[in-house]
Amino acid sequence: MRIGGLEKFTVTDYPGKISCIVFTLGCNFRCPFCHNRQLVEEEANEIPEEEILEFLEEREGQLEGVVLTGGETLIQNGLFEFLEKVKDMNYSVKLDTNGSVPDSLKKVVRKGLVDYVAMDIKAPLSRYEEACGIGVRTDKIEESIDFILGLESYEFRTTAVPGLIDREAIRNIARRIDGAKKYFIQQFKPRNTLDDKYRKIESLPREELEGFREIAENYVQSCELRNV
Ligand code: SF4
Repeated sequence: MRIGGLEKFTVTDYPGKISCIVFTLGCNFRCPFCHNRQLVEEEANEIPEEEILEFLEEREGQLEGVVLTGGETLIQNGLFEFLEKVKDMNYSVKLDTNGSVPDSLKKVVRKGLVDYVAMDIKAPLSRYEEACGIGVRTDKIEESIDFILGLESYEFRTTAVPGLIDREAIRNIARRIDGAKKYFIQQFKPRNTLDDKYRKIESLPREELEGFREIAENYVQSCELRNV
């Protein structure tokens, strides 16, 4: 596992659990609006896996969950072994993913190594390459969506990137995840983005996001705004 960050405490990133966040290094996408530049470009200082495991051992009984995020978590070598160690310490695990590696996603879930999956849906499928800055197998994205829709605990989320996400895009995405238990529409923050151009773009107004939410609610069971 290549780890590029640790946030030792959060009550907002794993629903209902006091958790820490482990950030993996590297990503197979290059979303121009991404604000995890140091992780994606692998510029962050690497933290030895043993250090993270020692921290988790120390916090057993104090923390309930571990959020694994990136970068992209499912491209990590050694992911299964790492998660087995985390589960041996009785932590609940939330895994964030861009949905591009459904085979690994299915494996970690079926092995009982992940309790909650959060998948980003970047854009309508027809605009995925534009959104991700790289060629994308959208059949893999769809495979992940379909698998996640059958799980007990999960969420889908979309960042409301100006110029990419509009009412039609939200309708298209929400229709694709029709019946989903939880869908979050997240505010875009113009900071530290991969493509400098996005640092100068203003976030959409709250009313616009409220309109997105109303559209999505026609399809999903619950839709909430985040970071507005
Ligand atoms: S926003 Fe895109 S580039 Fe950034 S970590 Fe997520 S999938 Fe990778």
